[in-house]
Amino acid sequence: MSKEFRVLLYYQYVTIDDPEQFAAQHLKFCKELGLKGRILVAKEGINGTVSGTVQQTDKYMETMRKDPRFADIVFKIDEADTHAFKKMHVRPRKELVTLRLKDDVNPRKVTGTYLSPKEFYEAMQDDNTVVLDARNDYEYDLGHFRGAIRPDIKTFRELPEWVEKNKDLLEGKKILTYCTGGIRCEKFSGWLLKQGFEDVSQLHGGIVTYGKDPEVQGELWDGKCYVFDQRISVPVNQKEHVIVGRDYFDGKPCERYVNCANPECNRQFLCSEENEHKYMRSCTDECRVHPRNLYVKEHQLTEEEIQDRLQKLEEEKASSV
Ligand SMILES: [Zn+2]
Repeated sequence: MSKEFRVLLYYQYVTIDDPEQFAAQHLKFCKELGLKGRILVAKEGINGTVSGTVQQTDKYMETMRKDPRFADIVFKIDEADTHAFKKMHVRPRKELVTLRLKDDVNPRKVTGTYLSPKEFYEAMQDDNTVVLDARNDYEYDLGHFRGAIRPDIKTFRELPEWVEKNKDLLEGKKILTYCTGGIRCEKFSGWLLKQGFEDVSQLHGGIVTYGKDPEVQGELWDGKCYVFDQRISVPVNQKEHVIVGRDYFDGKPCERYVNCANPECNRQFLCSEENEHKYMRSCTDECRVHPRNLYVKEHQLTEEEIQDRLQKLEEEKASSV
């Protein structure tokens, strides 16, 4: 049952004095270990996902915990068949999560109440509760807690503005927030408290911890959980699997993500294999005829073949009107 590789997901809000220097040293260390992944380092802490063999990841966790700054770091561990990344990056950043708040929040000083998976599960079912998804829209579309609010935003950094416009949805309610591993909620829930919302809680350890919890076993989660590595998504609900993702073109149930073949667009959308070919993996007509379309390149389509497919799409459009 146990696999050869692992994916670690972790973060720690802690002061790192010189993120540039730390990042350079840490990159060297990770490369020596043979890890692959993406780690962000800021004055406010560290946020990473790395993959490696059981031995490599063990060594990494052991070494990290010896540093007093990271002694309490929680590693979420997934088993894997292979690496989840192609390269190893450690990048210094201004913020660990991009919120760009006018007045920044230090989650070590102000943050929402931490709820265990069991507590979150129970709180979700309370009548006076609103569950707010603190992720990007495409993450929500692949899977989310049943009944959670999907803020109508493209990226996480637009969330504060959305809240300001939708105060009436949240006022007087018990607010629960959740995200993939918990890092976004640390800040976002703190920000909500600073805005004057009084009852704000967050899912401790995020969705990935919730899915592994032996008691709740991911219950009340529909769909899958989007992750930022080559796996693209991981399962959450161990008891039932309700597909909520919808094919971008025909609206049929779908959990398969592709990137638009127009390299300048690169939009991520859900799409069946059949529709990938039919629409040349492109989100719009403009993307389909883009001179650098990657689908056209990969399949070595001739100009005639392209025109043929475009015409079929045109005919279909005309006949559906
Ligand atoms: Zn596109």
